[in-house]
Amino acid sequence: MLDLSTPVQYTKGIGPRLAEVLAGKGIHTVADLLHYLPFRYEDRLNPRGIAELRPGEMATVIAEVRTSGLFRTRRMPIFQMTAAQGRARLKCLWFNGTYLRDRFKPGQMVALYGKVEEDRRSGELQIMQPQFEILDEGSEDNGGDAAEQKLAESLEVGRIVPIYESAGQGRLTARWFRGIIRSALENMPPDRRDPIPAAVRSRMGLIAPNEALWKVHWPDAGESFTDLQAARTPGHLRLIFEELFFVELGLEFKRRQMKAQTGVAFTLNDRAREAIKKILPFHPTNAQKRVLKEIAGDMQKPYPMRRLLQGDVGSGKTIVAFEAAIIALENGYQVALMAPTEILAQQHYFNARRILENAGYRIVLLTGSLEQDRKREIRRHISHGNAHLVIGTHALLEQTVEFAKIGLVIVDEQHRFGVMQRLKLMRKTSEEKAANASSEEPSPSPEPDVLVMTATPIPRTLALTLYGDLDLSVLDELPPGRTPIVTRRVSDERSDEVWEFLRKQVAAGHQAYVVYPVIQENEERELKAALKMYRDLSNVVFADLKVGLLHGRMEGNRKEEVMRRFQSGELNILVATTVIEVGVDVSNATVMVIEHAERFGLSQLHQLRGRIGRGGAKSFCILMTGGKVSEEGERRLDAMVRTNDGFQIAELDLELRGPGEFFGTRQAGLPSFLIANLIRDRQILEAAKREAAAVLEGPNQEISQPEIDRALQHMHARWQNMYGLVEVG
Ligand code: ADP
Ligand code: MG
Repeated sequence: MLDLSTPVQYTKGIGPRLAEVLAGKGIHTVADLLHYLPFRYEDRLNPRGIAELRPGEMATVIAEVRTSGLFRTRRMPIFQMTAAQGRARLKCLWFNGTYLRDRFKPGQMVALYGKVEEDRRSGELQIMQPQFEILDEGSEDNGGDAAEQKLAESLEVGRIVPIYESAGQGRLTARWFRGIIRSALENMPPDRRDPIPAAVRSRMGLIAPNEALWKVHWPDAGESFTDLQAARTPGHLRLIFEELFFVELGLEFKRRQMKAQTGVAFTLNDRAREAIKKILPFHPTNAQKRVLKEIAGDMQKPYPMRRLLQGDVGSGKTIVAFEAAIIALENGYQVALMAPTEILAQQHYFNARRILENAGYRIVLLTGSLEQDRKREIRRHISHGNAHLVIGTHALLEQTVEFAKIGLVIVDEQHRFGVMQRLKLMRKTSEEKAANASSEEPSPSPEPDVLVMTATPIPRTLALTLYGDLDLSVLDELPPGRTPIVTRRVSDERSDEVWEFLRKQVAAGHQAYVVYPVIQENEERELKAALKMYRDLSNVVFADLKVGLLHGRMEGNRKEEVMRRFQSGELNILVATTVIEVGVDVSNATVMVIEHAERFGLSQLHQLRGRIGRGGAKSFCILMTGGKVSEEGERRLDAMVRTNDGFQIAELDLELRGPGEFFGTRQAGLPSFLIANLIRDRQILEAAKREAAAVLEGPNQEISQPEIDRALQHMHARWQNMYGLVEVG
């Protein structure tokens, strides 16, 4: 019998070298191997007759090799093989197929899979680049043992056959995986206890774990082929639920552990209420009121807040953050506000001073570009408690900043921080706490509250997995008086018209951004670049206007200077790179021109567009394209023209790029699921979340303590294996 946690290296047929190849696929243990599911299936129980094939369909055909050979065209070598069933013939072609030269021998049986086409000239049926498997080829890995060979054969035909993604540059073939997984299945402990509590299992109608594994790898003859391909068989549903359930259990567990810690129970007294009312420069929207209530509610609790505030660009998150800050400040605690860029930190600093300084709070700005001496001085103020509200970039995170009495940490535009950085922040605060606890101090300082803000409108179900350990608030209403932004797409051949339009807007007293994908031309030849276009625009096209330049390689105080001049209205036009993507807020700016718009990601375009439409005046986003636009590029531009809704944009972006790219967390250690697909399996995710919460509610009539213990134990084991990076507890 195999132990599921055994490293694959110790199973028969896998040595250290193959184990390394498997590790590259995320397969470390026997359990991982068993969860390496087929990415599709071939119906070799009812393979198609060649005579009945129709052009356009995907088909599996089992036929006999007749002839094969390589011929050269002017453009490339093509390998051709003809397979037959009696008289019926099927031509198979592989471009650049030199590698197939000695692969097929007449008389061999082959399984072929691909899209059937009609050869336009001869009218014959053919499949281009079919996937294939030679069926009566000895299984090389097993050394040709007769009995084993017979088994191997029976796994290839006369049934629905699982097709696995090959590994190790094709060294580990689908056939190899079939054999190795089959033998692992046969050696599974038969009476494995289900780690999912019985009540959950029955509510969800889940089949037993071993049965599920057997059925997804080796489907019964009667299984619906459509369900198999769509991963919707009972076996698939069981395994997908299981994976998501234990992730959700882990997140929920973490959330509850956090709540078991000591935080600051802030009081929301009349003084704080008055202070909040006094700073508000306008009537808050209903959404802002609701969200503040949720935050204030958390802050009053005796355990630490961990809340994510999600709101589309321009929904007014900043003021909500300031309100939360006041609650902490009025209670005599310090507040840290962190932004992803210096520009944004500076903007928050100016706003905070404008809005909060009258109330007597001392506000400091701490960024990486400050002189050493100045930084040291500011840090001293922070550690002595003389600075109340500390605003900075993540320099705050990286350097050791000691707070005298930190009560609230606000992280703005979180999507720019990696997920791991978010964890680091949380960890840092708990480490500080641990450090304090071990020192002579009588009582450890309480864990500060944390408010994370993001403008990436993450579809709710995804937010549940990514931020499942956070509570979620959503600002789903824009401040009043905004007119929707008009978005147009034009070819850059019409740039003269665009510049003319800009000129008119400036004449009407407004300001404009012009954004480029790169700073300098030599980065990518064919792209217009910010530096050069700045010269053209400021010296020639808009010689009579004030044009500024802003990009990421400028020094901190020069950036600040340019931003200030744009903010004050002194500059009419700002030529920039995506440094202005997040957060920058100049309500008089009504035009956003993006050159080479086809080069930007969808969420990025939406963020950039979010820089305008912030005042009452009608705003215009002009997407200029230069050069060929890919099909995906077309879809992005279409979406931008069609909708202003951040949630719709996010959905589409997620679909186009997949979760890893979408969140930019591929490197940052976002767990990648073995089986579940966050887009396909949203509903299962919701259910998993709900059931995980139910389990952690504690024992009751439905769920017993031993069952809970077993689930938690499994969760710990699974998380260690699957998501080495994510710490539990
Ligand atoms: P974001 O959510 O993108 O960070 P901001 O906090 O920068 O948005 O707010 C965008 C603009 O809307 C700012 O100019 C801000 O002053 C303004 N604003 C925010 N809330 C309101 C409100 N309730 N009424 C009117 N204007 C508001
Ligand atoms: Mg903001």
